[in-house]
Parts: sequence; structure tokens; C-alpha cells
Amino acid sequence: MVKIKAITLIILVFTFIGIIHGAILNSVNVFVSWIFIGIWLIFSFKVLKNIKQHREYNSPHNTAFFTISPVFIGIFYSIWGNFTVLLGEDLLEGSDLFLSWWSIIFGTPYILYSAISLYRCFKKYNVIYFGTKSIDARKFGYMLSISILLFIIIYWISFYSLIEFYDLNLFILLISTILIILIPGLFGTRSRLPQLTRNYITERTNRLNQLTSPRSNTTPQRYRKSVRTTTNSSPTPSTRSVTNRSRSVSHSSRSTPTSQRRSTTSRSKTTTRTTSRSPTGTKVSSKQSTRKITNFNLYKPKAGRLSTEDFKCIFCFKLPKIPEDRGRGIILCPNCRYPAHADEFKDWLRSSNLCSRCNATIPASYKKNPKILTVKNYIVVVKHFVNNRK
Ligand SMILES: [Zn+2]
Ligand SMILES: [Zn+2]
Repeated sequence: MVKIKAITLIILVFTFIGIIHGAILNSVNVFVSWIFIGIWLIFSFKVLKNIKQHREYNSPHNTAFFTISPVFIGIFYSIWGNFTVLLGEDLLEGSDLFLSWWSIIFGTPYILYSAISLYRCFKKYNVIYFGTKSIDARKFGYMLSISILLFIIIYWISFYSLIEFYDLNLFILLISTILIILIPGLFGTRSRLPQLTRNYITERTNRLNQLTSPRSNTTPQRYRKSVRTTTNSSPTPSTRSVTNRSRSVSHSSRSTPTSQRRSTTSRSKTTTRTTSRSPTGTKVSSKQSTRKITNFNLYKPKAGRLSTEDFKCIFCFKLPKIPEDRGRGIILCPNCRYPAHADEFKDWLRSSNLCSRCNATIPASYKKNPKILTVKNYIVVVKHFVNNRK
């Protein structure tokens, strides 16, 4: 509600200024320029808001919004700088290059932002997300850079006779795009994620079984057995029955230890307190939990007795750490609640619907919109359970 009001207000204010100023100077160009300033402000607020939101969830900026839109905005506002009469005077008069206050204020920040995003496509990101679909970041980087180069060259060829100079912003974007294609693109190396072949998965699950091997209890041994069944069953419909069986085994083993039952009751007190404080529902409280965890039980791996091994990522077997894992985020399997680095989990979900540890089906809604914990908060969870063990 508030957001819509702010947008309407900005549009109204700038339309008003545009009409007045345009009428005084008798210029449509001035009017349109003021409207563009309004749109630019709205877009910039949106960018800042998204950045803040992503920082809160510790997720990387590998979405279409952060990679494509700065390019459009940067190029559009730089080009409009050539045609506007508002702040449009050439500061580099006499040279073949063009730069106006308009381009500096509205174009340059997004031109630089585009270059950084493009660089990250080659150097940092593995995939770029378009909603729930993802594209290989490198391929996307090449597509985007080629489109940028083609656009700038075609623009210059077709408009040079009209404007008779090269826009400095576009020139910067052109040079940086070429450099990015050449340096990290063609000659740079990047650590790739391992191929998720069946062998790799089996090997990994075996290693996981070793790591979580039981100490004495009979319960974990049963649990281990269930994980081993999981290893043999592949994620195909024909073995669905095997999967179900193994899941029910782990169910029965879960309820056995009395220590766990005791801890659950003590913790349920905290649950009621949380719900009473936020009557709007669990969605709000889960959002708040990224800042302060109120119900640790939501993050407790389903295992009889917890050790640090239970808090290691189910893919790379590493305990989430700061600062090494800054910006990665943690996703828990909704069934077994074992943790995984968010990027690794999302990549795994591209090829499978099943949790790699417990083989439970990950619901489509969770796949689309998994709850991502910050690594920092997950470390708090780990400390809570490892210190409270006994
Ligand atoms: Zn990991
Ligand atoms: Zn699981």
C-alpha cells in the first residue's frame, strides 16, 4: 500500500514539475525529461530495496533484475542525455566524446553497475535466475555482452550522422564489456561445481554415512540403515516404493530417544510465545527469524543425538562458517532439516526433486521459494544445539 502511494506521489510530483517547466520553456522535451527523472527515482528506490532484501537473506544478486535492468537503465539514460535539453549540455565540447550532467547523474552509476554485474556473471555466479528458471551464468554473460556490443555499434552507426559524437558512457560500457569478455570470459578460469552424476552422489552419500556413523545407540544404526537404502534407490518413479519405505523407517527411529522428547516439550514453550507475539501468522515470524531466532526447534536436524556432524552441509560436508561462507545462505531440507549451502541446494534441485540426504520429496512450493537462513544465524543454531547437547 505504502509503496504504491510513494510511486504515485513521485509520478504526480514529476508530472506536475514537468508540465510547469515544460510550459514555461514551451518544450515537450523538458516535460518528458522530468517524467524520466521520476521513473529513474522509482527504479533506483526499487534497486536499493532489493539490495537490502537480498542482503537480509544473504542471497547473491544473480537474478535477471540485478543483471539486465541496470544495462537497460544505464544505456537508456545515457542516450537520452544526448537528446534532452535539461542538463544536456556537452561538458566535453570540442571533442568527439559526449558527456553531460544528465549522463553523469542518471547514466554513469548504472553503466558501472552493469559492468560489475557482467563481470560477476563470469567470475562469481554459477547461474542466473529468471524467476524459478536458471541459465548458466557464463552463457548468459556472453549473450548479454554480445547484445550490448551489437546495440552500441548499431546505435553509433545509425545515429552518428545525427549527433556527431560518441557518448562517453556508452564508450566506457563498450570498453569494459570487451575487457570482461576477454579477461575473465575467455581466459579466466573458475571453479566449477561438480557434475551431479550418480557415481558422485553415491560416493558422497557413502561419505556422509561414515561421517554420521553412530556412537553406541541402536537408534542411529537403524537410521544409518535407512540412509543406505536411500543410496541405492535412484530418483526414478520405479523405485518410489523403496524410497517410501526408507522414509518410514527413519520416522520410527526419530521418536525413540526420550531425551529428544523432553527437549521438544521444553521448546514448545518458546513456540507459543512466538505465535502470541505475532498474531499475523508464521510467515511473519519466519521472516523475522532471519534476524533473531525465536524457535530453534524449526532448525533442529531430525536425528537422535546431535553432534557437529549433523550441522555440516549435506553436499560439501563443511560446517557453515563466517567469513568463508558470507553471502551464501543456508537452506534446510523441509523433512530432515539437515542443512545445505543455499547455492549447492538450489543447483541440486535443478536435477532432482528429492532431498539428497533423506530422499523425501521437496514440495514444489518450497523448491520455488525455499526459506534461506543467513550463515550467521545458522551458526547461532549450531551453537545452540551443540552446547545444549548431553
Ligand atoms: Zn556446502
Ligand atoms: Zn532431507
